[in-house]
Amino acid sequence: MPLLVMKFGGTSVADLARIENAAKKVQKEVERGYDVIVIVSAMSGETNKLVGYVEGTSKLYDAREYDAVVASGENVTAGLMALRLQEMGIPARSWQGWQVPIQTTAQHGSARFVDIPRANIDAKFAEGFKVAVVAGFQGVSPEGRITTLGRGGSDTTAVAFAAAFGAERCDIYTDVDGVYTTDPRVSSKARKLEKIAFEEMLELASLGAKVLQTRSVELAMRYKVRLRVLSSFEDTDETSGTLVCDEEEIMESKVVSGIAFSREEAKITLFTIEDRPGVASAIFGPLADAGVNVDMIVQNISEKDYDDAHPGAVTDMTFSCPINQVERAKKAMEDAKLAGKIGYDELIVDTDVAKVSVVGIGMRSHAGVAAKMFNALAAEGINIKVISTSEIKISVLIDRKYMELAVQALHDAFELEKA
Ligand code: ADP
Ligand code: ASP
Ligand code: MG
Repeated sequence: MPLLVMKFGGTSVADLARIENAAKKVQKEVERGYDVIVIVSAMSGETNKLVGYVEGTSKLYDAREYDAVVASGENVTAGLMALRLQEMGIPARSWQGWQVPIQTTAQHGSARFVDIPRANIDAKFAEGFKVAVVAGFQGVSPEGRITTLGRGGSDTTAVAFAAAFGAERCDIYTDVDGVYTTDPRVSSKARKLEKIAFEEMLELASLGAKVLQTRSVELAMRYKVRLRVLSSFEDTDETSGTLVCDEEEIMESKVVSGIAFSREEAKITLFTIEDRPGVASAIFGPLADAGVNVDMIVQNISEKDYDDAHPGAVTDMTFSCPINQVERAKKAMEDAKLAGKIGYDELIVDTDVAKVSVVGIGMRSHAGVAAKMFNALAAEGINIKVISTSEIKISVLIDRKYMELAVQALHDAFELEKA
């Protein structure tokens, strides 16, 4: 029997009516002859509420209990979806992660898949069940504890199941009808893409486009899963939505295909550090040890310090990291200073920044993308604080208040509204 994976995000299962609407989409595929694995998120807002309960109970919480609490939102929707399908006469049952069992690492809060044994679910399909409804976002550690995969993790559950069960396709149903050139909630000129290459989607996701969790794109790319994003609120067929696929399947790609942004950034500058071999390692070693995900880095060119007390060259080092890691980063730097491993005069944190990135595989073979980007920002009077580039993306850190303006300006400059 051919098999499909269908994933419904939080807004698509936000109440009983929406669960029924989603169930009807599942029914259609069953009627077309598919066995279906349905992956559900928690009702929208539910996971945030559960995280709030944990944080309200314990500041330095035990990550195993955090996972036990926040994974529970998906248990509710999995059961309700199975019940709704049964009401429609479709043989279905729900599966919590541990029942499958979805085996993950013990990295609570950001666990990774180890294995998804097929036997239990296959046995049910063989018995005549048509749908397995699996709670997304969760798994079980080698110690038998409940784990979660990081926010947005149900996308990754869906792709992992599609890979494990050799699904014909993995359909991600959400509250937009596909992947756009940028978040359609930020730019009304955003255009829906028919197809997007895995690599581009991977960059967009990791640079802030939360329409797919980054890890889900990585898995789809590795296991060649046909991944599609489409609307749970519209009538859909095989041609709907956006297909995330190999570069080769895309006939003509633009130099820039999308713009991503992230508000959750912070910038930290260490002023007046010694400019000597080993200083970067003395700064970024402790940050790594403290689990800080450093993103962009700039080191100013060296200035000679003529102060007799501090002979030698000095410089400043700036880096960005997720805003919720600022305290950890500060502490790591202060501890390293106290231990005499680094010296700086001042540490300044700027949390009013945002990162805006342009992404496109066409950049590999086109010059001038950076110049065009910087021009467009300059024309709006937007100052760039930090720049970083890779083969297929350019990111800038700017004042957060200009984020929307920057996205619009870049969308216009690269003419993304035109196909
Ligand atoms: P779900 O709950 O279904 O997982 P998410 O909220 O996680 O949905 O992801 C869908 C949201 O992603 C959209 O509502 C949209 O605001 C946002 N988004 C960000 N960037 C893009 C993009 N390039 N294309 C489409 N949606 C995007
Ligand atoms: N419910 C989880 C979250 O809000 C997982 C998901 O929806 O993908 O992050
Ligand atoms: Mg999501």
